[in-house]
Amino acid sequence: MPFSIAIDGPAGAGKSTVAKAVAARLGALYLDTGAMYRAVGLYMLEGGVPMEDDSAIAAAVPGAGVLVRHVDGAQRVFLNGRDVSEAIRRPEISMAASRVSAVAAVREAMVAMQRRIAEDCDIVMDGRDIGTKVLPQATLKIFLVADEKIRARRRFDELQAKGAPDTYEQVLADLVRRDRDDSTRAVSPLRKAEDAVEVDTTALSIEECVERILALLQDALRGGRA
Ligand code: C5P
Repeated sequence: MPFSIAIDGPAGAGKSTVAKAVAARLGALYLDTGAMYRAVGLYMLEGGVPMEDDSAIAAAVPGAGVLVRHVDGAQRVFLNGRDVSEAIRRPEISMAASRVSAVAAVREAMVAMQRRIAEDCDIVMDGRDIGTKVLPQATLKIFLVADEKIRARRRFDELQAKGAPDTYEQVLADLVRRDRDDSTRAVSPLRKAEDAVEVDTTALSIEECVERILALLQDALRGGRA
């Protein structure tokens, strides 16, 4: 039977870096579910859909053709046939993704797609609701956390490397607001699943974190949870 690893946690905790490395070590598929919500957010912004209007967002969802492809091991995200993998990384798209992800119709469409992708293959999936909602039977559930200032610093460094003009203070404020919105929304809020193992990445290197997760997977597989 295939195994699945669910990695959830707040923004900037290192989920995608760690999940990608774990998947590579295991020869498993890596799915970044945040990228799917980002593509929906981009669609709504480009279409001028009023972002405060849940019913307008819900009505527009069927028009957002989100497709995830793996090209040479790397995930690419397409929106109605256009590769938006880079465009969705802009900071305003982070906020748009957070907004649209609070709308039930958006989550239903994305969760259905995520479960289909996870069928019949070994997978490492990261997001906010993977352990609680998308893959409640996951072989291993990880909840990654890190000090808020460290998370903002990591995100700031990433954006700087891409030449984005945002200041550290803006990045920190956006991250705090996004975590608050993600944790307090009514549908599938960000929270640690009861059976998830919390890993604090504040003082861990990526490699240490990856090793820790691989060891936890071995334990979970030995314990017959697979
Ligand atoms: O992980 P990333 O920062 O790319 O996610 C962008 C936004 O998408 C998050 O702030 C969250 O609101 C939403 N998201 C979600 N559920 C997921 C993944 C992401 O609600 N499984």
